[in-house]
Amino acid sequence: VTISQTELDKLQVLGHGNGGTVYKVQHKRTSKIYALKVVNGDSDLTVHRQVSREMEILRRTDSPHIVRCYGTYVKPSGDVAILMEYMDAGTLDTLLRSRGTFSETELAHITRQILKGLTYLHAHKIIHRDLKPSNLLVNKNMEVKIADFGVSKIMSRRLDPCNSYVGTCAYMSPERFDPDAHGGNYDGYLGDIWSLGLTLMELYVGHFPFLSPGQRPDWATLMCAICFGDPPTLPQGTSDEFRSFIECCLQKESSKRWTASQLLDHPFLRSHPTSD
Ligand code: ADP
Ligand code: MG
Repeated sequence: VTISQTELDKLQVLGHGNGGTVYKVQHKRTSKIYALKVVNGDSDLTVHRQVSREMEILRRTDSPHIVRCYGTYVKPSGDVAILMEYMDAGTLDTLLRSRGTFSETELAHITRQILKGLTYLHAHKIIHRDLKPSNLLVNKNMEVKIADFGVSKIMSRRLDPCNSYVGTCAYMSPERFDPDAHGGNYDGYLGDIWSLGLTLMELYVGHFPFLSPGQRPDWATLMCAICFGDPPTLPQGTSDEFRSFIECCLQKESSKRWTASQLLDHPFLRSHPTSD
C-alpha cells in the first residue's frame, strides 16, 4: 500500500537537522501516525546527497532494529521526503536529558538492540558513520532503532579507505582522524563500534565521555584527546562486565576492537539475559 503525501496531515515538528525537518504526521484515512523527513528543493547539494543516500539505505534495509521506511517522495520542485515509522519516545539523547542516566540492566537491553541493528547493517555492507544518542530512536516499548543514514556509506567491492570527515566529529574514532596511526587497514565498520562505546558511556555517566560535565566542547582539544589521549574509562562502582564491554569498543587501534556480532556474545550481555 503506497501512501500519497497529500493524504498526510502535519501535526508537529519532531526535529530539525542538517537541512531537513522531521514532522509528526497523520494519515487522514487510517489516523495512523508516522514521521516524515522533508528536505526542500532549494537546499544545497550536500543536503540532497545525504537524503538520497538515506532513501537508498532505508529502502534496502528490513530489520526490527532499523527505523522502518514506508515510502519516499520526490517532487518536480525538488522537494524530497521520507515516510518513516513514528518512534513515540524520542531519541536516547532526549531520554537521557528528561529521565537521567541509564542503569546497566537498561543499557544491556539497549545495547543488544543496537548491536543487532549494527550486525544487520555491517552484514549488508553498510557503515552508519554517525552513531550517537540523537540518532537512536526509541518507542514506548523500549524498542531502540538506528536512524539517520545521511552520512552512511555502502561499501563497494573495493575497500575504500573511507576516512572522510563526515558525521559528528565528537563520536568519530581515532582512525577516522589519522588512519596511519591507529590501525592502517581501517575497514570502516569498526568506527561504528567506537561510536557505540562512547554512546553507551554517555548514557551511563550522563555527559559526553571526553568532556567533563558542563564543559563546552572545544574542537581542537577534543580531537587531541581522542587521538593522543587514553580512551575514557568508567567510574568506580561499575561492574567488571560492563567495564570490559566498553574497553572492547574503545580500543584506539581499530583492529583490536570487537565486531558487532562478537559483542553480542560478550559477558556483559550474557549477564543480563533477555526476558523473552
Ligand atoms: P538529521 O540528519 O537532521 O539529524 P535525523 O534523522 O537524525 O535527521 O532526525 C532529526 C531528529 O528528528 C531526531 O534527532 C529525532 O529527534 C527526530 N526524528 C527523526 N526521525 C524520527 C522518527 N522516525 N520518529 C520520531 N522522531 C524522529
Ligand atoms: Mg540526526
